Amino acid sequence: MEMFVAGDWVDRSERIEVRDPFDDAVLDTVPAATYDDVETVLAASVDGSRVARAMTTFERSAVLGRVGDLVEERSQSFARTIAQEGSKTIREARKEVSRCVNTLRSSAEEARRICGETIPFDSFPGGEQRKGYYERMPVGVVLAITPFNDPLNLVAHKLGPAIAAGNAVILKPATVTPLSAIELTRAFLEAGLPPQVLQTITGYGSVIGDPLVSDERVRMISFTGGVEAGRHITARAGIKKIGMELGSNSPVIVWRDADLEWAVESCVSGAFWAAGQNCIGVQRIYVHRDVYDQFSAAFAARSDSYRIGDKLDEATDMGPMITEAEASRVEQWIGRAVESGATVLAGGDRSGTLVQPTVLEKVPSSVEVHCDEVFGPTVNLYPVGDLDKAIVEANSLNFGLHAAVFTRDVDTAFKIAGGLECGGVMINDSTDYRLDTMPFGGVKNSGLGREGIRFSIEEMTEPKVVCWLLRDV
Ligand code: NAD
Repeated sequence: MEMFVAGDWVDRSERIEVRDPFDDAVLDTVPAATYDDVETVLAASVDGSRVARAMTTFERSAVLGRVGDLVEERSQSFARTIAQEGSKTIREARKEVSRCVNTLRSSAEEARRICGETIPFDSFPGGEQRKGYYERMPVGVVLAITPFNDPLNLVAHKLGPAIAAGNAVILKPATVTPLSAIELTRAFLEAGLPPQVLQTITGYGSVIGDPLVSDERVRMISFTGGVEAGRHITARAGIKKIGMELGSNSPVIVWRDADLEWAVESCVSGAFWAAGQNCIGVQRIYVHRDVYDQFSAAFAARSDSYRIGDKLDEATDMGPMITEAEASRVEQWIGRAVESGATVLAGGDRSGTLVQPTVLEKVPSSVEVHCDEVFGPTVNLYPVGDLDKAIVEANSLNFGLHAAVFTRDVDTAFKIAGGLECGGVMINDSTDYRLDTMPFGGVKNSGLGREGIRFSIEEMTEPKVVCWLLRDV
């Protein structure tokens, strides 16, 4: 495939192979953009921002609605691309496509709701003769950098709101999963988006990242990815808006009065969705002592029953990790936890990119699987007896995206929800729930700002005040 730069599909002699992580087959290649390409993209983006700003609300909304329709019409093809280039099973990939359609259609709707308000300038002495308002203006050029684990919908979460708000966008999709993003770019153009408004540049973040993020023509960086890259980008961004959707290590508290059968089902899915490569995936589960044995036995049995393997097989529950290097890292982290005293209740082994769904207990707080983001199919169980202690444990790490609690007691639910330090608390479901229109984002090292169409639009626009001094005539 080619990349879309300055209104043209272009190729480069150096190409990056896109491989299926299940069998290592080469699916396609994409250009490895150069430093010169970055300058071309940045210069074109300024023209693009003028074109985008001149589009009427109706035109922006109509394009977004049509892209939603095109993605829906091509849902089989998009699902196959997601499943092949990434880690998701075909069933998981279909869900991502239908969420992407919602994201695009919601963007079309929200484009019509961008408005300001009148300002009561006479609130204080000196403003008596003034009348005015503010409106929300596009920031200009949004640089969207996206991760591999949701290669379509997380791209739509940036393109949809940015275009709804009247911005030009430079998209840098994940190096390992650029194909879904390129297909989506094509759909935008077919839907009638002026070609100057969107550019999709493929390449290595380490080569094209710095010149893109540090350039002053970019007025906002909307980044989703790991904490390490987020920190690197933040340090180089200079004076511009920054949205950071980063990683986590999500805690769940299962209290003694919970519906245990449902808690097991929900948390197993939340831990192993996309082979655990999920920013809101379940990583630590604090279970009340009275029900710990029952919960852990059922959890391990359900995890053991997972079918792992070929992503395109309808019967497969969990696919591979994105690369063998990542699978090997997770295997080493499990190994170090076991050496330090952890016990394996289920899984624990790896074959190539396939890591078994792994359940650990007695995990010391010093090891990576406890204190870092695993981003792989492992989960830790801990017995707890005291509610306050459970909340302290849940909050003990420097992450805070989603957290969850299972209980039938309203007071317990409210107490835990109030005490958890994070961007969202799920009650009676695992941390792995997101509505694409809700405010989504984290506290601490999990991020900065919020996504979720209307909230992204807020971040991707700036208020402009218009004030009249009414002269006596
Ligand atoms: P990553 O940080 O390795 O890469 C993310 C993107 O940043 C890729 O496009 C990559 O090429 C680019 N990049 C890397 N270094 C860069 C640099 N120096 N300058 C510019 N761009 C650079 O993340 P990943 O492995 O693709 O994704 C996994 C991470 O993403 C996990 O930590 C996960 O929690 C996080 N994530 C967060 C959310 C969220 O909404 N909070 C959603 C999905 C994934």
